[in-house]
Amino acid sequence: MERKIVKEIKDRIEKANAISLISHERPDGDAIGSLIAMGLGIERIGKKVKLLSPDDVPEVYRFLKGTEKIEKLNQLWNERADICIFIDTANPSRLGNDINLKSLGKFIINIDHHIDNKRYGDINFVDPTASSTGELIYEILSQWENLITPEIADALYTAIVTDSGRFSYESTSYKTHLIAADLLSKGANKTIINKRIYEIKPFNVLKLIGEMLSRAQLAFGGKVIWSFITLESFEKHGVNLLDSEGFLQFLRMAEGIKLAILFREIERGKIRVSLRSTDKETKVREIATQFGGGGHEMAAGCTIEANLESAKELLFKSIEEKYGWKA
Ligand code: 5GP
Ligand code: MN
Repeated sequence: MERKIVKEIKDRIEKANAISLISHERPDGDAIGSLIAMGLGIERIGKKVKLLSPDDVPEVYRFLKGTEKIEKLNQLWNERADICIFIDTANPSRLGNDINLKSLGKFIINIDHHIDNKRYGDINFVDPTASSTGELIYEILSQWENLITPEIADALYTAIVTDSGRFSYESTSYKTHLIAADLLSKGANKTIINKRIYEIKPFNVLKLIGEMLSRAQLAFGGKVIWSFITLESFEKHGVNLLDSEGFLQFLRMAEGIKLAILFREIERGKIRVSLRSTDKETKVREIATQFGGGGHEMAAGCTIEANLESAKELLFKSIEEKYGWKA
């Protein structure tokens, strides 16, 4: 069944000439895949499109056609499109820059699947039951006949496979699988996508993952696994912060834990904290929110301005208070 809001978005797109698309800082597979799928799709219906990102595309997603069209969004950006579409972005502050929403587009469309989305758009297509924003972009693009090319199918499949944890997280539904099946029928190359994203890592990246794992510790009687990556480690191994997005999945494998935490030093005195829960009862979004971040119930993140040791202490204190676990 077609949703009314999806039709409304189609009508708006058809009436516009210039359209900008934007996703969040430190983009993940859902951000990149959804951004280029929507961009390539809208381009195919004859619109002028700009694809914008506050950060570079992580190396691992550069095999996708369309990533070369992504331009850097910064404070100097001064092109006001007819419509600006925000993708996978719960809060405009996640652009990481002091950018005025209305300077980007006369009309704002917000497409996202985060439960804490701030509904800042003129149209807000927010569905927290979707595994990924990619699912929602699929729904929009499917309204035009034969619009989804193999390149677009690759981008959407990437968005879905990464944000659903390879079809494993709680948010994966029968609908997720139906969409993925349709994308395969439209030419998505699952073998290449899985290989590039999950099976091949540059040697230096593997060494850094090894270092992170060897530093890992258990806390709260084995309920929590945590580790950290310092600026020096990133530098020593020649790995960019943007290329360490998926590392937490390795910590999360530890048997018996309920929560995996990775602390990454992004600048001196600025720590990026990523949280993953392994069970529905252990909700992490509220913890991230306490520190000005957010996300999903089982996957969330925040940035704490402190050194590694203090950031860890602050976070552990909040875990103790929220879950009543003893360190
Ligand atoms: P990650 O740990 O991979 O950076 O983020 C996990 C999830 O939390 C993602 O869905 C991401 O969008 C969300 N998230 C991460 N950091 C922030 C943040 O600072 N603010 C908000 N609102 N969400 C975040
Ligand atoms: Mn997402």
